Amino acid sequence: MNTTPPALPISRAASLPLPATMVLLVDDQAIVAEAVRRCLANQPDLAFHYCADPLKAVALATQLRPSVILQDLVMPGVDGLELLKQYRANAATCETPVIVLSTKEDPKVKGEAFELGANDYLVKLPDRVELVARVRFHAQFYLNRLQRDEAYRALRESQQQLVDSNTALISLNQKLEEATKAKSEFLANMSHEIRTPMNGVIGMTSLLLDTPMTGEQRDFVDIIRSSSESLLTIINDILDFSKIESGKIELETHPYELRACVEEALELLAPKAAEKGLDLVAAIDCTVPSLVVGDVTRLRQIIVNLVSNAIKFTAQGEVVVSVRPEPGPAAGELTLRFAVSDTGIGIPAEKQDRLFQSFSQVDSSTTRHFGGTGLGLAISKRLAELMGGVMRVESTEGRGSTFHFNIIVRPGDTGPAAWRKAPALLTGKRVLHIEDNAAQRQVFAQFAGAWGLTLMAVADLVAAERALAAEGAAFDCIALDHELAGTNALPTTIRRLRALPGGATAAVIVLSAQRLRAADLPMLGADAAVFKPVRPVALLESLMVAFNGGAAQDRRAPAASAFGAAFAATHPLRLLLADDNAVNQKVGAMLLHRLGYKTDLAANGLEVLQALDTTPYDLIFLDVQMPEMDGYETARRVIARWQGRNPGRPRMVAMTGNAMQGDREKCLEAGMDDYISKPVRVEELKAMLTRWGQNAKTAAQ
Ligand code: ADP
Repeated sequence: MNTTPPALPISRAASLPLPATMVLLVDDQAIVAEAVRRCLANQPDLAFHYCADPLKAVALATQLRPSVILQDLVMPGVDGLELLKQYRANAATCETPVIVLSTKEDPKVKGEAFELGANDYLVKLPDRVELVARVRFHAQFYLNRLQRDEAYRALRESQQQLVDSNTALISLNQKLEEATKAKSEFLANMSHEIRTPMNGVIGMTSLLLDTPMTGEQRDFVDIIRSSSESLLTIINDILDFSKIESGKIELETHPYELRACVEEALELLAPKAAEKGLDLVAAIDCTVPSLVVGDVTRLRQIIVNLVSNAIKFTAQGEVVVSVRPEPGPAAGELTLRFAVSDTGIGIPAEKQDRLFQSFSQVDSSTTRHFGGTGLGLAISKRLAELMGGVMRVESTEGRGSTFHFNIIVRPGDTGPAAWRKAPALLTGKRVLHIEDNAAQRQVFAQFAGAWGLTLMAVADLVAAERALAAEGAAFDCIALDHELAGTNALPTTIRRLRALPGGATAAVIVLSAQRLRAADLPMLGADAAVFKPVRPVALLESLMVAFNGGAAQDRRAPAASAFGAAFAATHPLRLLLADDNAVNQKVGAMLLHRLGYKTDLAANGLEVLQALDTTPYDLIFLDVQMPEMDGYETARRVIARWQGRNPGRPRMVAMTGNAMQGDREKCLEAGMDDYISKPVRVEELKAMLTRWGQNAKTAAQ
């Protein structure tokens, strides 16, 4: 389609050539003609034409288009006044100035002439100067008018052209909008279509991994699972990117816990970091408010993106996420400055500028080696900008990179964070922290300082032994880095430390990148374990366990008992799952079975409503797109049925492959209580059941 607007003849009016002034004399007397010719003879810009036959005057005037007509009044055949009438009735001459030439000054004739449209009245033969002056005056006036009319016409034409091109632009814009809408609808549908079978693949592989298999089979299934997880990441990246591109991303503004957001992001990536032996550290400044208002999901997305890159491109050392607050640009706002630094391969200076472009990777061999779509940074940068900030990188090849970004939030809470409120029991307790990573030591010292602990930190076991063997040394607690002690040597190390005078009565807390099972702790000789990156709340709990001398238990790792009947027993719920896709039904039911639930199934909304006639379900998982009756309609019917009796109403959780902006809102608007997107993961399912299990219990009380 040609989108160039037509060129406008804007300067045309200004550049119109002035036509030469032409005088037409209509008179039957040749002598008059001769006299007039002589009057005008030495006026080179005045062209003179003479018409002796009044019957041909109008035709000649039409052809010549004179600038002025000198018209005799008394002529044979037709008189001058009659001709005047005819000039005015003729389109070509209706505006042409006519100077009437009369033999005498006759007021009656004069009046009549002016009435019929004459422009002037002269008695012949007029004086040469007067004639030339009058001719010039009327001709100029007429020509100016012609020129002005032409300019107006050109202007009107340009205006019309503008209107036309505007209309074309509007319709083009409309088409573009339609195309964009079609594109995002297409993406939403594609995303749904792809996620639905992915749900089957990911769900079934995780179920398959729980069955007895040979080592080789397990390897194969592991590969299927990790490949499908990366496929899902790619789909999500593309979807996100096109949403940002089409301006479809809307940020949420809800209060959230900043520390929890960073910790959750790191927790997700901790296994990968642990696999590579990297120290993963969350260094969150103490002055950061515990609650801020903004979009937690998008912030988490940026952090996950940057940290997973950092882990991906770092072979040894550490990945540190730091956050510090600064006054915001406006009153009541806060700027949060984040930095994600690693000790990895770094990025060559000349390649740093194209880092944030979409689909760009530093070099193709990197891509082959590490994989990735090259969209992560482009998305993260745009998200940071949407949140009022910027993103930049500092990097030295071979030394590591630091990605800085900031966002603007509103502080949601100015009081001290919950983790800072430590029981008096902790004050003055002497703690020996053994950790080789300086950033980890610093974070630990921050917590210890807030709780009033007396802290000594050492970087290796030799220094630790020296401290414990020193005269008068007596520690209440030894916080030992699992990786420093060595995974296999842990029991021996703990025994050796405890054998020293300063460690004789000390409780031992193991800080580990692995999730140690509570049941294994006594065997290891430890009293408690904390999963790294260390969360202050978890550390506080472990310290309490250690100082209370209670049975060693890691309250944060109930994973072993969470599976099976135990989970369902703590969160007893009657469940119904509605999905028209048989594979999805099976995946859902089996995932729930793993958590100890027996789940009833429905294939559409009508079956859900029927099932509700006979069974008081606590929780219904609703697929959104179903034949006969979809999830939204079902939700509306359920709400209508329980009108006014909210506590008794089953809770409804949308389970859908749709992940576009507004899908969640649409589900909530229809009356659903929660939202979980496919492919469904056990962890999310557990969180959902915990939330609504609690709710069902409260409702029953
Ligand atoms: P991808 O999904 O391919 O990783 P990104 O946009 O996240 O896409 O990153 C683009 C490229 O930037 C990566 O392929 C890599 O070459 C480089 N890069 C990103 N983060 C780091 C880092 N922490 N260290 C070294 N290189 C990095």
